[in-house]
Amino acid sequence: MEEDKDVGADAADPADLPARLAATEEALRLARSRNLRTFLLTRTVIIIVADGRLVEVNPAAVALLGYPDAETLVGTPFEEILHPEDRARTLAWLGHPGPEDDRSEPLEIRLVGLDGRLVDIELLALGIRHQGEVVIQLLVYDITERKHAVESLTYQALHDALTGLPNRLLFLDRVRQALARMGRAGTRAAVFLCDLDRFEVVNDSLGHRAGDELLVHAAARLRNALRPSDTVARFAGDVFVMLCEVSPEPGDTVVVARRLLAAISQPAFVDDQPFSFTASMGVAVATGRLTDPEDLIRDAAAAMTQAKNRGRGRFELFDESTRAKAIGRMQIETALRQAMDLDELRVYYQPILTCPGGELVGMEALVRWQHPQHGFLLPGSFIPVAEDSGLIVALGNWVLEETCRQANDWEILLPEDRPIYLSVNLSAHQLHDPGLVERVRDTLIPPGGGPRKVVLSLEVTETTLVRDTEQTVEVLERLDDLGIRIGIDDFGTGYSSLSYLKRFPVTSIKIDQSFIVGVDTDPDDRAIVNAVIQLAHNLGLLVVAEGVERPEQFAALHQMGCDLVQGFLFGRPLPAEAMTALLTGTSGPITLAPDAGAPAPSA
Ligand code: C2E
Ligand code: CA
Ligand code: CA
Repeated sequence: MEEDKDVGADAADPADLPARLAATEEALRLARSRNLRTFLLTRTVIIIVADGRLVEVNPAAVALLGYPDAETLVGTPFEEILHPEDRARTLAWLGHPGPEDDRSEPLEIRLVGLDGRLVDIELLALGIRHQGEVVIQLLVYDITERKHAVESLTYQALHDALTGLPNRLLFLDRVRQALARMGRAGTRAAVFLCDLDRFEVVNDSLGHRAGDELLVHAAARLRNALRPSDTVARFAGDVFVMLCEVSPEPGDTVVVARRLLAAISQPAFVDDQPFSFTASMGVAVATGRLTDPEDLIRDAAAAMTQAKNRGRGRFELFDESTRAKAIGRMQIETALRQAMDLDELRVYYQPILTCPGGELVGMEALVRWQHPQHGFLLPGSFIPVAEDSGLIVALGNWVLEETCRQANDWEILLPEDRPIYLSVNLSAHQLHDPGLVERVRDTLIPPGGGPRKVVLSLEVTETTLVRDTEQTVEVLERLDDLGIRIGIDDFGTGYSSLSYLKRFPVTSIKIDQSFIVGVDTDPDDRAIVNAVIQLAHNLGLLVVAEGVERPEQFAALHQMGCDLVQGFLFGRPLPAEAMTALLTGTSGPITLAPDAGAPAPSA
């Protein structure tokens, strides 16, 4: 290439002219040869265009466009190497540059190579004088890699790495688009938010690899249950969310929700073992006035909470009452945060007796809330909110400390010969709280130690135990070392596997109230309770029956060999003072006759 930029002659002394010309020529020659070498060696693609055709191309250009040699490429109309969609834009950008004009604002376009290959490039152009004519020198930078890197970063930013599904960010964008389309298409955007029921248990017991595998299965099944135009995304952990455009007909939405739940509950195989889940799902359909995707997701989340509270494995559609409930829960949460500081919580104690003797040997601590507006609240109305919000740890610790304080009072009041077991309910969150063992030790065991008359017992559910087994065993063993008993609560509602109990330092199990209800009338309940008692005894565990309300139930339990009973038949939960009166009122063993009813005041 012979570049021949105008070298403006200085208006200087004419006598110097020949020398100056010679010097200039020499300089030009050098510049040219340097330019020529640069032209040939540079990795920058250089193309000279004149009259709409490629007139000179360097080796880098030949390589980029995949031609065998420069000769084959030279002569090609410039337009032909432009992607048809980029042609007009490129020609407009280029215009007709004069000899000193630069197009230094780069243009991103695609070039078409010999075999039809597309190359993403960035283009710069300058007008130069070439053999007396103004031609265009194009500088072309291959940006394929940069584009790929950007694309893959964009992809990563918008997708979940495990399942490859869109993530929250992309999902929100899709919802935004769907909401914008809504008016025109006559369809509505529906969001289906779902959470796999008790997935943590699987994850913790089978390991995270298996958990991940199951999530990938679940993702695929959800994806297959919908149309390609629908969006399936994963928010976090085991939370999946779907966006579908549905007809305004409510039945349509219900059909989709059912299909999704059915898809999730198909078993998946991990290491040849079948696993199946249920899921709790909340559905929110956009109404005309909703314009914010976050609002739609928030509504679906409120409906999902409702689905969980109504027993899981189901879906709930969001409506105004769901909103009211969600607001109610938020209000409870806010008030509950303050309730501990404002001294509004109370611990009540429900007697636990021997069977059949009816001798008082223990009690269960149950929390109550003296709410300034709503009055006396039972835990059913605030414990679930506390569990969901994480407040349960603070609340549970408060109960534990209050109960330990009370235990230390009773420790002084009780006669030597009458040990009593004091049970406190422990939530899963508390068991996984690193400070638990120290807290119990510091609050309960007074300096000096010694054998205790009031023995603390902690009630945990089966589901709590199955989570993080290794860590749980360690915590329970440390508690056991402190002389604290561990009991399994609500037995029969979770895994109902007695064999795994061998791993834990457990001393008793409490058969759930739902089996005691029909223990004297329903053959199934009877068979279950009987079997549980036999198995527990084989493992050396004490059996407690809770929710005993009728003498017939008590008689049946006695006949089956149940060790301990608890229920309204013997006594309702009592405030501490009433329990103190009961404990100190007589000197010998306290026997509560099955028909004694409840000493007032009670709850
Ligand atoms: P739970 O641990 O199963 O406690 C037994 C529940 O059954 C208590 O309800 C008790 O009042 C009730 N109950 C006892 N006998 C009978 C009976 O004969 N018939 C009937 N129908 N019910 C009976 P409560 O006090 O309303 O507590 C409900 C649940 O709240 C408890 O169930 C427990 O899971 C939770 N809870 C209570 N206090 C605490 C606490 O301090 N911490 C934690 N984490 N949970 C607590
Ligand atoms: Ca309990
Ligand atoms: Ca229970």
